Amino acid sequence: MVKAVVGANWGDEGKGKITDMLAEKADIIVRFQGGANAGHTIINDYGKFALHTLPSGVFYDHTTSVIGNGVALDIPVLIGEIQSIVDRDVPMPKIKVSNRAQMVMSYHKLFDQYEEERLGKKSFGSTKSGIAPFYSDKYAKIGFQVSELFDEDLLKEKVVRVAEQKNVLLEHLYHKPLINPDELFEELMGYKKMIEPYVCDVSLFLHEALKEGKEILLEGQLGTLKDPDHGIYPMVTSSSTLAAYGAIGAGIPPYEIKKVVTVCKAYSSAVGAGAFVSEIFGEEADELRRRGGDGGEFGATTGRPRRMGWFDVVASKYGCRMQGTTDVAFTVLDVLGYLEEIPVCVAYDIDGEITTEFPPTYLLEKAKPVIEKLPGWKCDIRGIKKYEDLPENCRKYIEFVEEKIGYPITLVSNGPGRDDIIYR
Ligand code: GDP
Repeated sequence: MVKAVVGANWGDEGKGKITDMLAEKADIIVRFQGGANAGHTIINDYGKFALHTLPSGVFYDHTTSVIGNGVALDIPVLIGEIQSIVDRDVPMPKIKVSNRAQMVMSYHKLFDQYEEERLGKKSFGSTKSGIAPFYSDKYAKIGFQVSELFDEDLLKEKVVRVAEQKNVLLEHLYHKPLINPDELFEELMGYKKMIEPYVCDVSLFLHEALKEGKEILLEGQLGTLKDPDHGIYPMVTSSSTLAAYGAIGAGIPPYEIKKVVTVCKAYSSAVGAGAFVSEIFGEEADELRRRGGDGGEFGATTGRPRRMGWFDVVASKYGCRMQGTTDVAFTVLDVLGYLEEIPVCVAYDIDGEITTEFPPTYLLEKAKPVIEKLPGWKCDIRGIKKYEDLPENCRKYIEFVEEKIGYPITLVSNGPGRDDIIYR
């Protein structure tokens, strides 16, 4: 059985925590898209970890962690991450990396940085992990697939071709140092050495696992609104963030994905540029940011302060719909315990028209939030294990959201730890 854990919003919904928790009953956890540009924060018996590339199931002895073909594989980051968890007494995880995954090269990160510099004020707020240049190259068919490391003759020819193409831009657009093909080849050979022990025909491995009835979790990065097709283009990421893409990015049949657990945050936060209708500012935002997540809403990769906002029904309903949600995990609800009243964005006003359907970007830019206020519960709900034990106003908030988005909230997360969870 395959279950996907994906985000309904702009990312940072707490997918890492939900994956880590669900991984207890899983055999294999697969990353199927994205790269080292976002982080998952996980708190468990070993401590607090920010993972960028490893799936959030690496902390269990019984699981295998898989990097699927859809991932932007940053080999030095992956190796560093494995070392960093082993250094903190986590048992050496079982890791498999798809031979069809492509590699983030050092020049992808440089291009990312150069392009952001060139765009100046119009930049995307990229984390400069090389993700956009990486996926551009993959689809332009000038990327490097892990399998290519094993044919050195072909690779020697290819580095010349790639360097030639890149150097035109480096010289004439960015005015930066050029790529030397020999050095590029050496970089690739370095990666080969590091990754060789983990390389695997992942889709075949998963095919066999499915035949044996194994439980597989697909772990998504970011959320619906960052999807390149269905998100707030162009302020999106460069790989699909949807559960459907899990089939491609892992190499399994689409009909094997039986459950889609969409993680949806009890308020909104976003990093990077782009329309954000329910955004709040000033002291109101600072307070939510300070209290949010676990120790504040700051990017797990960059440390950047996240943009904050109230829960957005329109974006979340759409976010859940595009994921094909079977279950909603409603997270960080405990954070809202300080509020007398909780504002919720229930609709958008676009040039005087009220809508609850998420529009394309040019209309989104014009949308004003229609706010409804719900009474707060004014207490700490961490530690509560049963739904009935939640304060009445808290249950009302959950049920209000559930009704508005139209998908069942079956998990409520009331703290960052593995056990801070209420099943409904
Ligand atoms: P991801 O990328 O979706 O995995 O999300 P992140 O890990 O970047 O951000 C979620 C943040 O919220 C992390 O700091 C988590 O430890 C924290 N977190 C997750 N669930 C909860 C929750 O229910 N309550 C609180 N207070 N923090 C949570």
